[in-house]
Amino acid sequence: MTTVSRPNQDVIRPDKESAMLAEENPFEAMMSRFDYAAQRLSLDPGLYKVLRAPEKQIIVSVPILRDNGETDVYTGYRVLYNTSRGPAKGGIRFDTAVTLDEVKALAAWMTWKCAVVNIPFGGSKGGVVCDPFQLSNAELERITRRYTSAIIDTLGPDSDVPAPDINTNERVMAWIMDTYSMHKRHTVTAVVTGKPVEMGGSLGRREATGRGCMLVTREALKRLRMPVTGTRVVIQGFGNVGSVAAQLMENLGLVVVAVSDKSGGIYNLKGLKIRDVLQHSRQRRFLSDYKEADHITNDDLLTLDCEVLVPAAMENVITSQNAKDIKARIICEGANGPTTAGADKILEQNGVFVIPDILANAGGVTGSYFEWVQDRGGYFWDEDTVNQRLERIMVESFEEVASMAGRNGVNLRIGAYMLAIERVAAVHRLRGMYA
Ligand code: GLU
Repeated sequence: MTTVSRPNQDVIRPDKESAMLAEENPFEAMMSRFDYAAQRLSLDPGLYKVLRAPEKQIIVSVPILRDNGETDVYTGYRVLYNTSRGPAKGGIRFDTAVTLDEVKALAAWMTWKCAVVNIPFGGSKGGVVCDPFQLSNAELERITRRYTSAIIDTLGPDSDVPAPDINTNERVMAWIMDTYSMHKRHTVTAVVTGKPVEMGGSLGRREATGRGCMLVTREALKRLRMPVTGTRVVIQGFGNVGSVAAQLMENLGLVVVAVSDKSGGIYNLKGLKIRDVLQHSRQRRFLSDYKEADHITNDDLLTLDCEVLVPAAMENVITSQNAKDIKARIICEGANGPTTAGADKILEQNGVFVIPDILANAGGVTGSYFEWVQDRGGYFWDEDTVNQRLERIMVESFEEVASMAGRNGVNLRIGAYMLAIERVAAVHRLRGMYA
């Protein structure tokens, strides 16, 4: 695969450290794939310029009173990358590593992701730079409410709809919904998705991302004529995505040989008992305390012998440094941006079948779309209906991406970008330019 030459993209430089930093810049990682896909589509130069630029970038200060009486000020971001296809959609993360470049990349990925699964949303993302593990529940609530009120002008069921992401959950979504509703003077459930079911959340939403990962892995195995039963899976991350993917893949007949959380990984070559591991982690215990398996680092876990690898934790874990050591035949990207552009080339040379993030983890936002539709209609579906509709969208999207990739002789990631860019570009052409 050739890529458009861009500054900061060449990872082989004398200064290895700055080369790694460039490789790991998520916005550069997104752009290098975008540029190549745009080139393959012969996207017209005007649209190319429009689609490379985020529509809106908001930076806010979030002052809160700590429990000890001191005041602290946190930085929050919300980026709306593109809203041509519908309201902006994308999660909010609380993490010390949040940067504007990361939020921009994640907002762009949401735009492409919603287009890949063809749901009527644009893409956005938000984040607050904080360490939620050092904050009390009350402090987290204050940060959430103050951040929500700081970006309230962008939020709304028709304009920008947040959801959970790293270190945020149903609880946080409930606070966002309440804060927004208090400002509007009436209850607005559709302003946020991933809410508790009791207050307008959707059945199946919590499991939707992991379920989507299981479904596209199943389709990939079928396409590669590999068996399901007994196929070995390694999963990095045991949060909302990894833990559900592990359980559903085990139910399907795959053997989950290793999983990890931020404390490290556990493995058993004969297969872990996912139900036991789930029980352990539900007690808010780290996997490093799990006694019934051997232990392994998060780095070593990636290169374990297996057929399917699911990076479902964070960005930039598969890089030009370790890509050559990956033994899996299939990578299913449960996380956003787990593979750098430098690693893509090596994986492709080695014949690894990568199901890209903007397809692999799109089950989450598809579940969010179902929640938003139900909230707006005031009519709720049973879980089977949610799961059936999710399955149909994931299987069809997998086929569409694979067919785009096949027709153009590119890998699945570039096929997914091409499909997404084409869909977003088509709407821009139809709408024309307002001047
Ligand atoms: N945070 C999830 C993602 O990255 C879900 C976003 C959403 O549902 O809006 O896809």
